[in-house]
This record gives sequence, C-alpha cells and structure tokens, in this order.
Amino acid sequence: MLKIRNLHTYYGGIHALKSVSLNLDEGEIVTLIGANGAGKSTTLMSISGIEPPRYGEILFMGTPIHQMTPDRIFSLGIVQVPEGRRIFPYLSVTENLDMGAYLRRDLHEIRNDMDYIFTLFPRLAERRHQLGGTLSGGEQQMLAISRGLMSRPKLLLLDEPSLGLAPVLVQLIFDTIEKINRENKTTIFLVEQNANMALRIAHRGYVMESGAITLEDTAENLLASEKIKAAYLGL
Ligand code: ATP
Repeated sequence: MLKIRNLHTYYGGIHALKSVSLNLDEGEIVTLIGANGAGKSTTLMSISGIEPPRYGEILFMGTPIHQMTPDRIFSLGIVQVPEGRRIFPYLSVTENLDMGAYLRRDLHEIRNDMDYIFTLFPRLAERRHQLGGTLSGGEQQMLAISRGLMSRPKLLLLDEPSLGLAPVLVQLIFDTIEKINRENKTTIFLVEQNANMALRIAHRGYVMESGAITLEDTAENLLASEKIKAAYLGL
C-alpha cells in the first residue's frame, strides 16, 4: 500500500531522515520505534506532506505522493493524527468530529460513523457537547484519533498516541487502535516510544536510530530480540 524508497528529509541544514526505506501492506499495523529525536515524527510528516522530502520516493497504492500538498495527500485517504493531539479547543466534541468529515457529503453515513465512534469511546459520547479544550488529555487523544477516523482513512498515521497518558488510558488507546484495524481494515502506521505496547498490537515493526532504519522484523521477533529488550523495552 505504501512504499518509501531512500527518503531524505532536511530541516534547513539538519539531515533528519537519511535514506529511509519501508513498506506497509494493506490491513497491517506497523510500528516505528526509536529514541527521542530519531526521526519518527519526521517520517510521518514526510508521508503526510507537512515536511516534504528533498530526495527519495513515496508511493501510495502505486501513486507518487512525495511532491503532493498535504491536502491532496489527505484526500487520497492518508490521515495523520499528530503528536500533542491538536484538536480544536473552542469546538465541541461533535463539531471536532464533523471537521474530520469535511470532505464527505454522505450525511447519513457520517452520522453512522459518529455513532460507531461513540461505541469505540463512550466517554466522548457522554461529552459530545463539551468544548474540546475542556477535555482531559486522554479524552483529547480519543477525540484526535476519532476525528481522523471520520474521514474514513485508508491509512492512519498515529504519532505517539500514548504520550502523557495514565497507564489505564494507554491500555484503552492501544486496545482501540487494534479494534479499529480489525473492524475496519484500516492500515495503521504507529509511531511510539512505548515500544512494548506498540509491538504487542503491531504485525511488524521498524527501529529507527539517528534518522535511519536499523532493524525491521515481525513484532513477535522484535519483542523477543535481546537487543530490542535492552534498548527499548527496559528489560
Ligand atoms: P520525538 O519522539 O522526540 O518526537 P522523533 O523520533 O519523532 O522524536 P523527530 O521529531 O522526527 O524525532 O526529529 C528528528 C530530528 O530532526 C531531531 O534531530 C530533531 O531535533 C530535528 N527536528 C525535528 N523538527 C525540527 C524542526 N522543526 N526544525 C529543526 N530540526 C528539527
């Protein structure tokens, strides 16, 4: 579904991605793990067009997207849920969700999708009329993921969904990501520092260090790897 070949992305003189190559197959959950500053967020932003690569190629279902604008990439079905949530604080929960569906015209289906989201996250249903900015951190994360889902993405890019959340909410978020993948066949590319949780729901994983991919394998093998255990799982 997504093929990235020899991607190089820069912030001015900083060479943030150094020949990154990776693949996602349709229906997979793939995780990208690595330390702070490794280049994980930059990888997502290069895919979604926010930080376009200087060299290299990104093909989405066979179409080159590495020179497209973010809105064009979004319209193809690639949706990024950024780190730090970035919901609309002065809009209600339902208005935030409507914003996610702004390209759609199928009003009946939009209502059905909102009902589905309220079954995924009953907390959002209880707070549907509340302003986004008044929600807790965990609820804002639920809303950010849900807003992404409202466009019916083919590929969902999640940047550190567990960041700053209490353990019980981390579990809920990961369980729900797995459910979204299973029930809707949504392909998910998950960037995480919580390697342990991410590898437990992912099919495959890539490890990134200093802007380059240094390891790729099935999630099962990565979880069992001594190197990964020592470097990323704290074991
Ligand atoms: P984190 O988990 O801390 O978000 P990350 O793996 O997502 O880390 P990136 O945020 O992609 O890493 O950063 C990769 C490199 O690019 C780092 O050296 C970082 O300092 C640098 N970088 C990121 N954003 C910018 C920016 N806007 N301007 C300049 N340098 C940046």
